[in-house]
Amino acid sequence: MGNHNFVQKSNLFSFSATRCLRNEYFHNDCHICIDLCPKGAIHLVRNKLTLFDNECIECAGCIGSCPSEAYEIESFDPNEFAVSFQAQNNPQISCKSTTPCLGVFDADHLLVMALRGEMVPVCDISHCGSCPLNENGKMENTIREHIRLANEFLVQIAIDKKIDIFEEIEVEATRRALFRKGFEKAKEVIADTPSEPQKSMTASHHALPNVRMPLKRVLLKNSLKEFVGSLEITSFSENSPLFFNKQIDFQACTNCGDCTQFCPTDALFPTSDKQGIYFSQGKCIGCGICEDICKTKAITSKEGFDLVSIAYERAEQLVHYDMVMCHECRCPYPYKGGDPICDRCEGYKKEFSNMFTLAKDM
Ligand code: SF4
Ligand code: SF4
Ligand code: SF4
Repeated sequence: MGNHNFVQKSNLFSFSATRCLRNEYFHNDCHICIDLCPKGAIHLVRNKLTLFDNECIECAGCIGSCPSEAYEIESFDPNEFAVSFQAQNNPQISCKSTTPCLGVFDADHLLVMALRGEMVPVCDISHCGSCPLNENGKMENTIREHIRLANEFLVQIAIDKKIDIFEEIEVEATRRALFRKGFEKAKEVIADTPSEPQKSMTASHHALPNVRMPLKRVLLKNSLKEFVGSLEITSFSENSPLFFNKQIDFQACTNCGDCTQFCPTDALFPTSDKQGIYFSQGKCIGCGICEDICKTKAITSKEGFDLVSIAYERAEQLVHYDMVMCHECRCPYPYKGGDPICDRCEGYKKEFSNMFTLAKDM
């Protein structure tokens, strides 16, 4: 992570190939950014995500949607903005004044803004209708979906706040046509007119810690800490729009370690004796890699979430095995009861007994 040899740059915009989920794990088929990019600047080259810098206009609209924060723009840091939002004197966030395209924010960022003080963000999407970045309404729908998810989460955990949308139409059709002509200018507009907060964020931008967990998740988790003490209910039996839960079937799991090795955020990690697996709800980004990689389909999603576990990054032990010596091969293996024989030797035995049965019949 964060290896600069794998960072592709287009002027101020950069893509860190080692942070991309599908680049990290061959079978992951995340294509959120590919679908969203208004210029088609993100391509798959031999199944690896590649930014074509000559096509990217640095609109920053894809940044918020990437679950693993693979994209950054030097002139604006959505995490910094979310943390310092309460210091602004205006709740409105708008691409015409304080930020680039609102697609730069995820639901996590919006919640961080809403949870850190009295002021709740009002998202100005009144310009989306006339924006050349919003071909087929994709960008606007994405922004609306982030707002919807954040609000759904606030309702679910009974926090009396709502992120509002400002959408007064302020341009007529003729002005829209004119604006379209300015499409190729989008890059210069964003680069040349940074607001004060944007400028001040540039310096600290590269101070992002080199961690596997996305910073927006860390900030959201920390923001939730403020509230868990005052909430009547902190444990929920239904699914969350933003957090994920996992379970492992003891009998099916072979303790192979693939899920812990490939989990991109270390939400799954081995116990210190390597004889079990822990899971941290607050770190899981729901990428599905663990379920896909597990050969025995032992790991699955489970309903429910717990805000205390999320806020305080508590991990739950999903499985634990006693390791015993296999009486055939003398190798340690996770014991699940019955004769002390490992799955491999058991498999051999079955295969050979089938062969002997066949030989007898010949
Ligand atoms: S949205 Fe992020 S994780 Fe998904 S394909 Fe794009 S860069 Fe990779
Ligand atoms: S859950 Fe699946 S991938 Fe993870 S250790 Fe068990 S068998 Fe291996
Ligand atoms: S636990 Fe599974 S779904 Fe969650 S981040 Fe890790 S690999 Fe992805």
